[in-house]
Amino acid sequence: MENQVLVAGAGPVGLTMALELARYGVAVRIIDRIADAEHSSRAVAVWPRTLELLDRSGVSRELVERGNKVTVANILSGGKPVASISLEKIPSPYPFVLMVPQYETEAVLRDRLAGYGVVPQRGVELLAFDQDEAGVSARLRAADGTESSERFSWLVACDGAHSVVRHLLGLDFKGDTLGLDWTQGDFHLSGYPFPSTQMAVFYHADGPLLFFPMAPDRARVITSLGPATGVPPAALDQQAFQKLIEARGPGGITLAGTVWTSAFHINERQVESYRSGRVFLAGDAAHIHSPAGGQGMNTGIQDAINLAWKLAQVSLGKAAGTAMLDSYDVERRPVGAQVIEASGRMTRMATLSNTALQHLRDVMVHLLLGVPPVQRALTGLMSEVSVGYPESPLNGPPLGSAKPGSRVPPVAGTPPFGSGRAPLFAACGGAGAASLATRFPGLVEVRQPLPGSEDLLSLVRPDGYLAAQGPDEDWVLMVPLLTRLQGND
Ligand SMILES: Cc1cc2nc3c(=O)[nH]c(=O)nc-3n(C[C@H](O)[C@H](O)[C@H](O)COP(=O)(O)OP(=O)(O)OC[C@H]3O[C@@H](n4cnc5c(N)ncnc54)[C@H](O)[C@@H]3O)c2cc1C
Repeated sequence: MENQVLVAGAGPVGLTMALELARYGVAVRIIDRIADAEHSSRAVAVWPRTLELLDRSGVSRELVERGNKVTVANILSGGKPVASISLEKIPSPYPFVLMVPQYETEAVLRDRLAGYGVVPQRGVELLAFDQDEAGVSARLRAADGTESSERFSWLVACDGAHSVVRHLLGLDFKGDTLGLDWTQGDFHLSGYPFPSTQMAVFYHADGPLLFFPMAPDRARVITSLGPATGVPPAALDQQAFQKLIEARGPGGITLAGTVWTSAFHINERQVESYRSGRVFLAGDAAHIHSPAGGQGMNTGIQDAINLAWKLAQVSLGKAAGTAMLDSYDVERRPVGAQVIEASGRMTRMATLSNTALQHLRDVMVHLLLGVPPVQRALTGLMSEVSVGYPESPLNGPPLGSAKPGSRVPPVAGTPPFGSGRAPLFAACGGAGAASLATRFPGLVEVRQPLPGSEDLLSLVRPDGYLAAQGPDEDWVLMVPLLTRLQGND
């Protein structure tokens, strides 16, 4: 269909992309080459900013009901406490990291998507594509093996780490493979020395051991296997995990059943551009990194949310393509790079092999994480509530002290920014806000002034980032920004 977006890949990122587009009334088709949905638990951590953003489509409440809230992260070394990080002070309605298996996250997204009449077409593979100024011609192979060529307005590649779209575009996926092999599993267990609201990292000379509780008697356990051998590592069985837990852990933990295990090595790679004409890359197709910090799926979901409202405004004729769609790469690529850097640093710190450096690390981590601003900076980074887009071409002029591009926290008692059926900017203010909405019907809605900025007009994007803020009576100063986005300038 000519005016339809093709989403390739029905993992968490593709499902989020399709859901956001469908919610905003954009025709979307989502395909996945695998006939059946994945049932392995893979990414288990859902961080506060992801929950804030998924609240716009009503997903978060259901996810929270299915997951386990973790509010403390303990770090221990040689059996002694090194640091304890509290997540409860994260400035969000979701001050915790939610542990929920990825198949549950995908199931909730799929259910919501079905509510808009869109069902992923399983067993349908994207084989190739061509693009021109007007659209994308995609070669698809259906589940019965028949091939067809179909036309779409845009293609969003959510086709994972081995993205065929990225290969076909010839885009570089620069980066490295880290030197250790890893194994992980979800187990039933007893004797975990913390409540199920607390996760734990045990530093050990032979390699770290991590516990992410998913229920009082169930946890994700991750540990390193040693230097990479060059062949894909094999997952350990329960008995072998038990041995490593006894050697590296606090003692007293007994594994009582295996839900799922896997093994992996860590790649740190990022694609050179998130956009190529009418084709966009999101999620693992664009960036892969260490699972330390559990950021992969979260960053991918936030890629999708960043792109979807822009693509919706352009598809629905509310905004012109250039500035709006170019901003996706400008905003999200630095975030991906930052996640790769931070998760890589955490992994390298946890896997130091030199005894003197291990000791120094323990001292530094203890000292630094004892300083509240350092804890705040770390939890802000991990929860992604400190992510912002200061260099965005969508930012208006700085009219006051607020920084365009910064996150606007959800406002209690009001619907999330960007919720509902239209991708609207929120003009939060008084008479000036009303004038702005009248000037840009279908693009801007009026809302109450933001708490703490009662005299100001704050223009908030559909994904909850500040586009501009200034005195309410100076609303005309925001007109050029919206005019430019509409493409009338
Ligand atoms: C074994 C394993 C364990 C993991 N563990 C963790 C973890 O502990 N913590 C963590 O944060 N992250 C983990 N991850 C990573 C996490 O699962 C990913 O970050 C997340 O799934 C990214 O979502 P995505 O939608 O971008 O890609 P994916 O979930 O990979 O989805 C891509 C989809 O695209 C489909 N597809 C591919 N090519 C085509 C095509 N040509 N046509 C149509 N469809 C196509 C695939 O079938 C797949 O369903 C793990 C990943 C794996 C594989």
